[in-house]
Amino acid sequence: MHIVIAGNGILAQSIAFELIHRHPAARVTIVGKSDRIGSATLAAAAMLNSFAEIEKGALETEFDRYRFELSQKAARAWPGFAQRIIDAAGSSSFSATGTSPQFDSGTFVLNNAAADDLDDENFEAILAALRDYNEPHAFVNPGDVPNYQPEQRYRALRCVYIEREGWMNPGQVVSSLDEALRGSGRVVFENDNVFRLVHGNGRVTGFESASGKTIVGDVYLLATGATLSDLLAASGLALPIQRVFYGMGVSIKIRSVGHPHTHCVRTPNRGLACGVYTAPHSHDTASRSGDILIGATNLISPEPLHAARVANVESLLKAAIQQINTHFYRAELTQVNVGWRPTSLDTQPLLGKTSIDNLFVASGTKRDGFHMAPVIASNMSSMLLGEQPESGFSWFDPERKPLRLLTRQAAVEKAVRHQMSAAYQHGFTPPTSRMPDLIRQKIRDDVERLHDDVGAHDWGIPPEMLDMYRYGHARA
Ligand SMILES: Cc1cc2nc3c(=O)[nH]c(=O)nc-3n(C[C@H](O)[C@H](O)[C@H](O)COP(=O)(O)OP(=O)(O)OC[C@H]3O[C@@H](n4cnc5c(N)ncnc54)[C@H](O)[C@@H]3O)c2cc1C
Repeated sequence: MHIVIAGNGILAQSIAFELIHRHPAARVTIVGKSDRIGSATLAAAAMLNSFAEIEKGALETEFDRYRFELSQKAARAWPGFAQRIIDAAGSSSFSATGTSPQFDSGTFVLNNAAADDLDDENFEAILAALRDYNEPHAFVNPGDVPNYQPEQRYRALRCVYIEREGWMNPGQVVSSLDEALRGSGRVVFENDNVFRLVHGNGRVTGFESASGKTIVGDVYLLATGATLSDLLAASGLALPIQRVFYGMGVSIKIRSVGHPHTHCVRTPNRGLACGVYTAPHSHDTASRSGDILIGATNLISPEPLHAARVANVESLLKAAIQQINTHFYRAELTQVNVGWRPTSLDTQPLLGKTSIDNLFVASGTKRDGFHMAPVIASNMSSMLLGEQPESGFSWFDPERKPLRLLTRQAAVEKAVRHQMSAAYQHGFTPPTSRMPDLIRQKIRDDVERLHDDVGAHDWGIPPEMLDMYRYGHARA
């Protein structure tokens, strides 16, 4: 069986890795440019967090709880998955990346006062989930968190350590997966973009590449991340797959001499993004230095945005210096990453078979596709090989109607809370007056009106999608 995959991010790679492991006769072609423009994978931290990502109300529906269980499964799968990649890449991965990828764990979640009390609610939600799911954790005196020296006014008063939440260096993982796949002798890489799908008689018959080549196989998988909808549109394929937007995220890398990180140190999610987080991407004990990834911003766009904005970089640097370690002011800024989180209309993954018999989709993972890669790879490879995935995976059917997971009231409340949190996070200092209440009311009125305008009477718009509905890029 020959499977042709469009895209070369963590999903494409890990699905290919799983396919050749599971099926001795499977051959795979991966089509994607080696510069990986817009790759969310390469911009990621890549934290393997699930508890640290919990927000108030995040486990309310059956769907939420299933997704969380999968996230737990992924957390347990990563150490073994990482080892398999390292073993398969062998010593060749050392030459490609300078170092082998390493799975490491231990995440400190801080409860500080840099934004507003949404942080307190989300911190409480994390604690409740840790307790409910019996996850090992420990309260830590913030002063004892390694390499944590925030500005006095931004210091945390509470901190929880989650020992089984890890991270990896995504660049090293991607290089090692490339090496492992190439080394298998059963995976071919086409350094090209898929321009359109060739199809007829209810089947896909090939991928036409940007350079005019047609790549032919038996089964086809679209794993191009945020470009999925544009690729389908360019192919004239009117499949009932909800639109995927470009969740533009900026992260930066610093080289910190004298103050390297050994653990992931972060806040809870806040202000429609993931708070401020810092993950060690390398650590040299001898020279007491290391690379630290700082993330991340989030801007949903109907089209690809290629360059980071000055304000994105400024806010990340400021947050890391003020809230994590003031000594970072002397660190070198070594990299600015722009990645497009594949963000579907209902903000949930699109994973599975389409109504075209030999066409599959893996996209829409938004904020945790790196973390979820082992479980997605396992279930997607089952489907591609004609086997059954686990039953809950039908939630992610790419042709489902958009899930409506929030009530209107919950969505409006969440939008108000997150927009105020974002304002405080970015320096809003109100006068001593009723102004914050007035602003809250104004946001609430706007969001209620938008719900009325789009006909969202008995369901809620995911807060990060408000502008897409407001400016006509999304429809109910
Ligand atoms: C700043 C940032 C921080 C993040 N942090 C985390 C984190 O800590 N933990 C976590 O789990 N997740 C994180 N994520 C989310 C995670 O990165 C994504 O969910 C995941 O990487 C998506 O993987 P993918 O393979 O679907 O897409 P991508 O990684 O975007 O890969 C798609 C690839 O396809 C290529 N491509 C696009 N169009 C075409 C085409 N027409 N033909 C061929 N190739 C094409 C692209 O160049 C790209 O290389 C983060 C994302 C961002 C942006």
